[in-house]
Amino acid sequence: MPQLGQGILKGMGITLRHLFDKKITRQYPEYKREKSERRRGMLTVDMDRCIACLQCMRICPDHCISIEQTKRDADGSGKAKPYAVGFVIDDSRCMYCSLCVEVCPVNCIYHTEEIEVQAYNRLELARQFGERPVDPTIDPKPAVKKKPKKAAADGKAAPKREPKKAPKKETAA
Ligand code: SF4
Ligand code: SF4
Repeated sequence: MPQLGQGILKGMGITLRHLFDKKITRQYPEYKREKSERRRGMLTVDMDRCIACLQCMRICPDHCISIEQTKRDADGSGKAKPYAVGFVIDDSRCMYCSLCVEVCPVNCIYHTEEIEVQAYNRLELARQFGERPVDPTIDPKPAVKKKPKKAAADGKAAPKREPKKAPKKETAA
């Protein structure tokens, strides 16, 4: 038969035990944990070195990066080359996978020390770089619709394949 009040006593015992334990609550933001060596902070891009190859935008699985590209003779070589006039990184979608950092051929996109990302509006988390703002609500990599196969589009059924006949078994004489 269960003893009445046993649960209350057990609970009070745990409370009393923790009352005299060493406190582990840390006051944030006054106290900040030591950052680990391999942490990944918010991304940034050095627009002076970016060659507008679009590789970071294409590889991003979360569609965080949008780049507006044009052709411009930025280095005075007399030849117009791809140039990023607008560059946006949407922190509300980024999962810090670092694929964009790894793929960049000139190492101009990289993680910073900053890890505290906050805003009142999701759109405020889209950070603009470059001289022209890019609309962060437009998906840089919209899903491509597959074209229907030609036969199906013409209303003709695809020719049926003949089933393979099983080889005849040889009987012993
Ligand atoms: S870290 Fe990953 S999710 Fe974030 S922008 Fe780069 S590729 Fe996209
Ligand atoms: S991969 Fe690097 S160079 Fe290419 S567009 Fe992105 S940031 Fe610029």
